Amino acid sequence: MNIPEIYGSMVFNDKVMRERLPKDIYKAVRKTSKNGTHLELDVANTVAAVMKEWAIEKGATHFTHWFQPMTGLTAEKHDGFISPTEDGQVIMEFSGKELVKGEPDASSFPSGGLRATFEARGYTAWDPSSPAFVKDGSLYIPTAFCSYGGEALDKKTPLLRSMEALSDAAVKVLHLLGNTAVTHVDTTVGSEQEYFLIDKELYKKRKDLLLTGRTLMGAPAPKGQEMEDHYFGVLKPKVSEYMHALDKELWELGVPAKTKHNEVAPSQHELAPVFETANVAVDHNQLTMEVMKKVADRFGYACLLHEKPFEGINGSGKHNNWSISTDTGENLLDPGKKPGENLQFLVFLMAVIAAVDEYQEVLRISVATAGNDHRLGGNEAPPAIISIFVGDELAEVLQSIEEGTSVSGTGKKQMGMGAHVLPHITRDTTDRNRTSPFAFTGNKFEFRMPGSSLSVANPNIVLNTAVAEALTQIYEALKDVAPADMDDSAHALLRDMLTKHKRILFNGNGYTEEWVEEAARRGLANLGSLPDAMPHFISEKSLDLFTKHKIFTKEEVLSRYEILLENYAKTIHIEALTLMEMVRKDFTTGLVRYMKDVTTEALKKRDLLPGSKCSYESDILKTLDETSEQILLAMEALAADTSKAEGIEDILEQAKFYHETVLAEMDALRSWTDKAEAIIPDEYLPYPTYEKMLFSLR
Ligand code: ADP
Ligand code: MG
Repeated sequence: MNIPEIYGSMVFNDKVMRERLPKDIYKAVRKTSKNGTHLELDVANTVAAVMKEWAIEKGATHFTHWFQPMTGLTAEKHDGFISPTEDGQVIMEFSGKELVKGEPDASSFPSGGLRATFEARGYTAWDPSSPAFVKDGSLYIPTAFCSYGGEALDKKTPLLRSMEALSDAAVKVLHLLGNTAVTHVDTTVGSEQEYFLIDKELYKKRKDLLLTGRTLMGAPAPKGQEMEDHYFGVLKPKVSEYMHALDKELWELGVPAKTKHNEVAPSQHELAPVFETANVAVDHNQLTMEVMKKVADRFGYACLLHEKPFEGINGSGKHNNWSISTDTGENLLDPGKKPGENLQFLVFLMAVIAAVDEYQEVLRISVATAGNDHRLGGNEAPPAIISIFVGDELAEVLQSIEEGTSVSGTGKKQMGMGAHVLPHITRDTTDRNRTSPFAFTGNKFEFRMPGSSLSVANPNIVLNTAVAEALTQIYEALKDVAPADMDDSAHALLRDMLTKHKRILFNGNGYTEEWVEEAARRGLANLGSLPDAMPHFISEKSLDLFTKHKIFTKEEVLSRYEILLENYAKTIHIEALTLMEMVRKDFTTGLVRYMKDVTTEALKKRDLLPGSKCSYESDILKTLDETSEQILLAMEALAADTSKAEGIEDILEQAKFYHETVLAEMDALRSWTDKAEAIIPDEYLPYPTYEKMLFSLR
């Protein structure tokens, strides 16, 4: 495979535009995509014509405005290029207007009450900063999606707004610090994606996986992940082929997939891309998830992106690596050789620390979903408490700021590996703390709370906005300081900020009970579930943040609040119904059949061996009988409360009820069915067990 040749071959990228567009048109498009300026219709017409020609060469017959509504998935509606002519033929048409704007019927997308049903129309608007591409015979045009009244109904619009807010605030601060060459900064994002692969035939036999994405019942396999023999293990041949095919398809689409390896749990894997501008990275992550599923299907696998597909086994996350880079090519979170003397770095570092501390609740909400709730606080996942890990060296630098002493931060240390044949490698200045939810990793922050199926737009919107706010405050505090006094004043400001926000810094083990207690003493939020967290989204502080930086209007925040809660309630409702159906039909069939067979065998045995106590058989029957009694009770309670939940008017109360009552009852029911399942031989169950699903992959 000639990778440089296939890389981006299906993308209408800068190179294609430079080659194919007239020079002035090319320049106009570049300007639009860089600065977000308006594109004239005649320019759009030319671009559309060239794009169409190119797309047809790549096999496209249709075009689609591709957008990210509040479902968390992507949406597309395909239009053919064909346009009939009077003589019964067709020509292939695609106008500038069709490129720039679409009008999909939006009535079936979640709007959280923003759109009255009589205004069912929505608009999609071309986002020229994310390149168009051809996939499965269609030209895909990345677009933003808004209502008839202009309110954002998607994830791209607020993301773009937040990137702009961060850029404006950062540039002001940079100019103040004397770095006047910078005119724009970009948020950069690299999102590592975890996923499970299981046999498709097994997947199809599990109603819970099919309908809810996770297993709702299932006794643990005798072996789980305790041997830790899967992590970074040798790839199985077919899995390796799968990853190869996946890489190829992603590369063609211009997605810079870079590393792949086995993860901690059996059948769990990870793919990490090279980082890109946030907006493009988000689009590419959505594409990655889609292509992962599609290629899996071709290989006879099902790709599971749910945060917690299997109880007792590590869940899947998505590490959001985040930094800021200037149009002069500088990474603002690169500490350089002497971070202690690098004022610019310290200011940006402190802005992130302040932002994360000040808006920890909203950041937590940005990753809250019914699925991710199972993961946060679990075995490998970060806890629901947000804290920042900066590593020993930066901790020392920060301490010296607080004490007013000076430490330059000596930079990299040599690390001897004890064998002379091995090269000396420089140790990363930040030793990896795997338990931190928000870790400084060399020249970027890694936010580890996002769940594997989440759109990374969410956390980046909040992160960008919160940091924009922190930078704005820094600017306000320093804007009247004379250049000669800047160093002293900035240090004094950093000291104040540190005193105020240092409670968020934590370098220790975030998985311990002691940390939970310590965090509570520090006043850090520990929001264990989505319903617990949601009120913070519509607090005055949150509304002020989003409206001040023009990321969301108050109405947009309220609509998202509603959508998130509704989505949560619906998810658990469907899970409850699915679990009950699976127990009633699939599980019970197995249970009854097994009990009947054991009874028959016991009776036969007694005929043959009068006087036999049949104690083994009786024991099985007794346990199963007692268990089924409990299952019946648990089913009744769950059925009653699931209907009760549906009737609760207030959406927050409803979500709470689903969390506290329905989910708890699902767990209770499951504990009984799992107990029974552990006794029933596999062949009696019409669905595959954990062991089969997790260990049968070739
Ligand atoms: P890990 O050890 O956490 O698995 P990896 O090296 O696999 O780390 O992944 C790190 C991710 O961080 C990659 O996606 C990489 O592209 C991304 N990354 C590196 N530098 C930056 C940056 N400046 N901004 C955003 N993301 C970055
Ligand atoms: Mg990582």
